[in-house]
Amino acid sequence: MPPSLLVLNAGSSSLKFAAYAATGAPALLCAGQVEGLGAAPRFRARGPGGEALVERRWEAGGAPATHEQALATVIAWLPEVLGARPPLAIGHRVVHGGTEFAAPVRLSPAVMERLRALIPLAPLHQPHNLAGIEAAARHFPGVPQIACFDTAFHRTQPEVAERFALPDRFFRQGIRRYGFHGLSYESIAHRLAAEDAALGAARLVVAHLGNGASLCAIAGGRSVATSMGFTALDGVPMGTRCGQLDPGVVLHLLDALGMTTAEVTRLLYHESGLKGLSGISQDVREIEAAGGEAAERALGHFAYRVRREIAALATTMGGLDALVFTAGIGENAPGVRARICEGLGFLGIALDAAANAGNAPEIGAGPVRVLVRPTDEEGMIAAHCLALIDPTPEMLT
Ligand code: ADP
Repeated sequence: MPPSLLVLNAGSSSLKFAAYAATGAPALLCAGQVEGLGAAPRFRARGPGGEALVERRWEAGGAPATHEQALATVIAWLPEVLGARPPLAIGHRVVHGGTEFAAPVRLSPAVMERLRALIPLAPLHQPHNLAGIEAAARHFPGVPQIACFDTAFHRTQPEVAERFALPDRFFRQGIRRYGFHGLSYESIAHRLAAEDAALGAARLVVAHLGNGASLCAIAGGRSVATSMGFTALDGVPMGTRCGQLDPGVVLHLLDALGMTTAEVTRLLYHESGLKGLSGISQDVREIEAAGGEAAERALGHFAYRVRREIAALATTMGGLDALVFTAGIGENAPGVRARICEGLGFLGIALDAAANAGNAPEIGAGPVRVLVRPTDEEGMIAAHCLALIDPTPEMLT
């Protein structure tokens, strides 16, 4: 059994994991999650070909309720795939690295302290990420723990892209556009550069359209602008998040309508976006199946905002050479891609209808290439871990 790398992604009610063989390019061995923590948990894992390896639900009692217990569930099962040997390193997805962390970092008590100080910048995500790290450190003492940040890839943005038009002291306090989904963008940039050197040097707009959604302008492999800002609320509408909103609306909700900050938070994060617009669901499949006026309103608005963002991001690079769709909607929803690209002919974007309908890797019919590629955030984390621990040949046998 070769040594392995373990990747963990601890969310509010789930612990996702993936294990890789620690080879030159880490090879996926299994991936899965414990979801529904604290409610009705379910544990699932699949092999590299998508085949089910384990599926478990708990009746009464004994169900994992915390990240620590979820990790214990995963760890108790992992030897079936990995053998008894502990992983060479554990990589963690961490949402916020602030201005300080522009690259993955090996965790130590001092680094953990600095990551705790960033909790106010991402209060809904960072505490869960850190809980996952602490649980893993307790289960695997002595194994290197490595944090990979959703913000890090965007640290190459020029200052003009990072600023809000607020007095300078706020920028210096860290109130700036950080951007998120960086591991997804980095995985796409690496994959395209490996496929074709010309794409590695090109001006790309990547549309990461999943439950969370954002877009990124990448020039020569580096992020130069992105649609998400200080938080993961900004930019285009998402499954349940509103996307860009006049800040005056928030003031109105608080002052004129008397809503509490907790109510506004719930509205903007959990009741808006495709769910709020359609009144049907946050899931594109369910909205498309329902059809009708509400579905049209939601999908039409989503496509309109994404289309505007593509044009805006192209402007930051003086044009674009390729548009790339990724994540759940980007990879699987031809109808949404068609709506988005409609009206982008002036930028050189046109779709080949048959290729688009088949989710083909190349779906463009105009001078700008239009690509569909799977995102691989976990694979990117595994690659970072391997690079950071830089194992000797003996460690890999
Ligand atoms: P997350 O951001 O949680 O990782 P994903 O990237 O997996 O989410 O995206 C999930 C979303 O992708 C779903 O809510 C749904 O809107 C969309 N989606 C997934 N599969 C399809 C499909 N076959 N057709 C249309 N939309 C899909």
